[in-house]
Amino acid sequence: MTKIGLEIHCQLTNLESKLFCSCKANYRGFEPNANICPVCIGLPGSLPRLNKKAVEKATMIAMSLNCNTPDKLAFFRKNYFYPDLPKNFQITQLNVYGEHSIGQNGTILVDDKEIRIRRIQLEEDPGRLIYEGISEKTQITLVDYNRAGTPLVEIVTEPDFENERQVRLFLNILSDLLDNLDVSNPSLEGAMRADGNISIEGGNKVEIKNVNSFHDLEKALHFEITRQESLISRDIPIEQETRHWDDKRKITVSARIKEGEEDYRYFLEGDIPWITIDSQTLNKLKADMPESISSKKERYITKQIPAQVAEVLSSDKFCSDLFELAHNESNAIVIANLITTDLMGLVDTDEKREKSKLTHQHLTDLANSIETKEITRTSAKTALQECVATGLPVSEIISTLDLGHISDESELNKIIDEIFIQEPNTVEQTKTNPETINYLIGKVMEKTKGKADPTLTLNIINKKLS
Ligand SMILES: [Zn+2]
Repeated sequence: MTKIGLEIHCQLTNLESKLFCSCKANYRGFEPNANICPVCIGLPGSLPRLNKKAVEKATMIAMSLNCNTPDKLAFFRKNYFYPDLPKNFQITQLNVYGEHSIGQNGTILVDDKEIRIRRIQLEEDPGRLIYEGISEKTQITLVDYNRAGTPLVEIVTEPDFENERQVRLFLNILSDLLDNLDVSNPSLEGAMRADGNISIEGGNKVEIKNVNSFHDLEKALHFEITRQESLISRDIPIEQETRHWDDKRKITVSARIKEGEEDYRYFLEGDIPWITIDSQTLNKLKADMPESISSKKERYITKQIPAQVAEVLSSDKFCSDLFELAHNESNAIVIANLITTDLMGLVDTDEKREKSKLTHQHLTDLANSIETKEITRTSAKTALQECVATGLPVSEIISTLDLGHISDESELNKIIDEIFIQEPNTVEQTKTNPETINYLIGKVMEKTKGKADPTLTLNIINKKLS
């Protein structure tokens, strides 16, 4: 049996400042080493001040993952020397004097399987190393401390995953959950990183590090399962080790022997006092938490939105926010449909979403125009495209692009007559195969650029055929 556990690092990118100083938490877009101060580059004598918001947001993550939250929080120094770590220690958490990290013993359902969360801890991100140079020999390493001190939440799961597909589903759910909580933008480069550990058939545990994307993690896990199965089939024991993912060769390679906890010489961070989180604060945080994705989904289903559409809509914060503002009791299904069938395809990247000029009012107006038969559903798609690109009012778009519905019987009659002349074979086929009527309707839609009233079109065609 395959057992996979994960360690996921999520940056709290939506916070204003770093974990222990007032430098920007969102370090992206700065010149190298421009978003730093004596605290985050560890100058002697500088003292950390804990970011209250980071504690609150990390606690919200813990609560959303059904974790227990501690009465008291403690921080520890994890000592190791590496150029990306200016202080030579990382301030993190450790449950050595009891459960004092931000959350423990949580669970989350993934495809009806319960995945246990062992622990969640709040810590600082190290700086970033950038490797440059054209060959191995001339390679140089640059260090940028802009990221050093960014609030990071580490989520450690129990080894409850049985395959890489469950891992992918979990990471998608987690990424939507963080986005929905408005604590992080998981699509930013480096905002969410995951390492895995894997053992098969009760053998030793192998850790996989250095994985740059979720997609690569899936490939690395797949490779590792195959490698370990092949060793077992040849009676070769699997060594307990850390392996790195080699992105170029698409294989895992043996790395350093894994340090144990004792190698890091953890000790209590004396510059940060123990933090008490009282029940009043916890209750307030709970009350302030955004509605969960599952609760949104249930609510959408009560509006008669199909379960699958409700699921897609509720797990996308950008789209569900638009839906909430745009819909009312009578147009919910139409708006959910416009968003999931058309809008999601039009704005499928962060960049396109930022550029989009669409407001919730556009969606409400489009739904109205469909309902009052001013435009067809097909024309609504064209209008939606225009709304995203220009932000002009729906009424203006309909008249400028001449998207108005054709429901004039004599006009449609004329168009259909022409098509009957052009398509004598299809007309003949309808006698033996009624399905071919759809082809004729398609021709009418093509000719009218989707503006013909579908019901009226069908009625006229049927009349002519009988
Ligand atoms: Zn700083």
